[in-house]
Amino acid sequence: MKKSIFEYMEEYGHEQLVFCRDEKAGLKAIIAIHNTTLGPATGGTRVWTYESEEDALVDALRLSQGMTYKYAAAGINLGGGKTTVIIKSPEQKGEQLFRALGRFIDNLNGRYITGEDVGVTVGDLEYINMETDLVVGLPAENGGSGGPSPYTAMGVIGGMKACCKEIYGNESLKGKRVAVQGVGNVGHDVVKYLVEDGADVVVADVDENRVKRAVEEFKVSAVGVDEIYSVDCDIFSPCALGATINDETIPKLKCKIVAGSANNQLKEARHGEVLGQKGILYAPDFIINAGGTIADTDQFEGGFCPERARKKVARVYDNVANVIEISKREGIPTYKAANRLAEERIRKIGEISKLRVKVPKKLARASE
Ligand code: NAD
Repeated sequence: MKKSIFEYMEEYGHEQLVFCRDEKAGLKAIIAIHNTTLGPATGGTRVWTYESEEDALVDALRLSQGMTYKYAAAGINLGGGKTTVIIKSPEQKGEQLFRALGRFIDNLNGRYITGEDVGVTVGDLEYINMETDLVVGLPAENGGSGGPSPYTAMGVIGGMKACCKEIYGNESLKGKRVAVQGVGNVGHDVVKYLVEDGADVVVADVDENRVKRAVEEFKVSAVGVDEIYSVDCDIFSPCALGATINDETIPKLKCKIVAGSANNQLKEARHGEVLGQKGILYAPDFIINAGGTIADTDQFEGGFCPERARKKVARVYDNVANVIEISKREGIPTYKAANRLAEERIRKIGEISKLRVKVPKKLARASE
C-alpha cells in the first residue's frame, strides 16, 4: 500500500471504514462512511474485480466523499457513503454474497444506507433488502423510486434551463440546439424532454440501436461519436462516460453551455478553468445530475411519493443557479463554486448546537 489506512482516511476526510469478511459467502467488502454531519452515510454498493485491495479502498474513499458533496449541495439530509466489494469473477455474485453484505450493513444501526452502483442490479438490492431496510433504489412495488434515470433527466433539463437563463436572459429551451452525447437510460429521456420543449437535438452514441431508437422516436438527427463535440450548438450535453471534457475535446466545442448527466465530466479539475476561459458555462456534474439521487432518497419521508420527488428534483434548477451565482460573486469557476456550496452547508449545519444528544446507553440503563 502506498499509504497507511489512517493516512488514506485523513486524506479523504473519513469518519469510519468498515472491513467486512464472510468466508463462506466469499465476501470481502469495504464500507466507507465519509461524513455523517447531515445524516446517515448513503451511497451505492459497487462490485468489481479489483486488481488490489488498495484499489477497492481508494474507490470506496473517493466515491463516498463524492456522495457527501452531492447530498450536501442538493439540500438532502444525508451524508456520503459507499461500499466496494472485491470479487474474482462475476459468478461470485448471488443471494449468499448480497445477503451476507446486508447483514453487515444492518449491523451498522443506520449509520450507512446502500443502493445500486456498478456491478449491482435491482435484484441484488432485493437480496440485501432481505437482511436490512437500509436500502434505496428498490423497485416501486418494494417502496422505491423504480429507477433514478427519468428523475436524473428531469434534473438535467432544469439545470440546462438555469444555464440558459444566465447566458441568454431567459430559461427557454425552445429553438436551442443541443448536442446529446449518449442516449442510454438518462440521455434518451433528456432528448425526450428537450424535444417536448421545442429544442433542436442532435445525438450520438456508440450503440447504433440506441441512436436508431432516439432518431425514430423523437425525429432528431444523429452524428458520429467523434463529431458530436464539434456540433455548432448552444448546449453540449455529456450523458455517456466521464472525462469527456479534456485537452483534446475542449478545442472542438462550439457550444455556450456544457450541461449533462455524466459523472466526473472534467478529466482534470483544471479543465473547468479552461472551459471558463473559452466562455463556456459549465454546470457542475454532481449538481446537475442529482435528480435520481434526490428521488431515490424520497422514500425516507414516509414512503416514496412521485409527486413530491418531482417537486424536489425541480430544485436542481435553483441549485445550478445558486452555483452560478457563487461563481460570479467569488470570481471562481463553477466546479469550485459547487464544492463551496456543499462545504458551506455541511459547516453551517454542523455548527448548530447539538441539542438532540442521544442518551448514552449506560445512563439510559441507570434510569430504567
Ligand atoms: P447508460 O449506460 O444507460 O447510457 C450511456 C450511453 O452512452 C449508452 O447508450 C452507451 O452506448 C453510450 N456511450 C458510451 N460511450 C460513448 C461514447 N464514447 N460516445 C457516445 N456514446 C457513448 O447510462 P446512464 O444510466 O444513462 O448514465 C449516463 C451517465 O450519467 C453515466 O456517466 C452515469 O454515471 C451518469 N449518471 C446516471 C444517473 C442515472 O440516474 N442513471 C445518475 C447520475 C449520473
